[in-house]
Amino acid sequence: VFHSTPYAPPDAIFALTAGYQQDKFDKKVNLGVGAYRDNEGKPFVLPVVRKAKQILASDDSIDHEYLPIAGLPSFVSATSKLIFGADSRAIKEDRVVTIQTISGTGANHYGGAFLQRFYEPWLGKSKEEKKIYVSNPTWANHKAIFNSVGLTPVDYPYYDSSTIGLALSSFLDFLRTAPAQSVILLHACAHNPTGVDPTRDEWKEIAKIFKEKGHFAFFDCAYQGFASGDLDNDAWAVRHFVSESIPLLVCQSYAKNAGLYGERIGALNIVASHAGDVEGGAARIKSQLLILQRQEISNPPTFGARIVSLILNDEKLFAEWKEDIETMAHRIIAMRERLHALLVDKYKTPAPGPNGWDHVVKQIGMFTFTGLNPTQCKAMVEKGHIYMTANGRISMAGINDKNVEWVAECIDKAIRG
Ligand code: PMP
Repeated sequence: VFHSTPYAPPDAIFALTAGYQQDKFDKKVNLGVGAYRDNEGKPFVLPVVRKAKQILASDDSIDHEYLPIAGLPSFVSATSKLIFGADSRAIKEDRVVTIQTISGTGANHYGGAFLQRFYEPWLGKSKEEKKIYVSNPTWANHKAIFNSVGLTPVDYPYYDSSTIGLALSSFLDFLRTAPAQSVILLHACAHNPTGVDPTRDEWKEIAKIFKEKGHFAFFDCAYQGFASGDLDNDAWAVRHFVSESIPLLVCQSYAKNAGLYGERIGALNIVASHAGDVEGGAARIKSQLLILQRQEISNPPTFGARIVSLILNDEKLFAEWKEDIETMAHRIIAMRERLHALLVDKYKTPAPGPNGWDHVVKQIGMFTFTGLNPTQCKAMVEKGHIYMTANGRISMAGINDKNVEWVAECIDKAIRG
């Protein structure tokens, strides 16, 4: 009965990691996967997470019952405060609907599925007409997720390969000319894969057009704190949009900022226009999200939610978490500076863009879009044993004191051909 099942290609990033694992070369480096590594190249369990696990392990009152469908209540209320700010007007007015999700992926999935069913401008429309605009490029999974819930992802201009920076004017033109009330995905911070974020002034311009055109902002926030080392700073764009009363939702993930990749802990937050059980009210939205959750996973998992809840709700643990986040963000920033210095001062490597290698230090978050073309990327993998995607993206988290020289040397060789 499965004779007609075609073979689906493996996920590009996971295929890259498989290639890396099989490689016997001693200086091999994996810059493909988006997971933080410490300066020894090892997975990093945050000290605060270790502590939270010990607290959980010694708590005999913890059982293994199902969580409520919306998730662990102490996690759910704290996670929305983390992204919107504890003094957020939307939270105080009871207009924020939050449910625990299977990490950021699950949040994106429910966000898309909810809009597919209930976004008013789309009612009665076909899949082709339900367009969700995503940056070109974007996280590889966005399109697959939105397609799977009956939406049609369409690119908008975002990245300018000639400057290795933001294509601001094309982006703004797109926002102005897109049909009113378009649904537009925005990376809240640390854009994946480019590492190119708008400045605050640019965000203000973007928000102004969203407001004028009634666009819906679908924020994906997978790197809060991880980008700049500061949780509030990385939530700035989201909070600005909320303060401008732009309709929006926000997907959160604790994979990167708490290193809880495999625990699959995240949240979806929708800001409603009203509180309660009225038209457009938060209670109605929540009731529908509960249905979505119930039919997909019944109840969300407990472990990651308990860890994050402990960290978010305890002043001391929260302060320790901030330190851990700074450790990760600052190590990455330091590696950006080392790589930049090696390319510019040591190798005097010809740069792929007009601004030298400045993009290496200007870009934000886990990834750098190097500007290397596909042939150069291929040379990095085949000659340097440095595993990276063909779009030129490297994960800064994979670079450390021991391999940064090799990475720089290989970039230099790849550029010079
Ligand atoms: N959105 C973006 C932009 C991402 O980069 C990622 C992680 N690579 C995610 C969402 C989701 O990740 P997770 O499901 O592991 O939280």
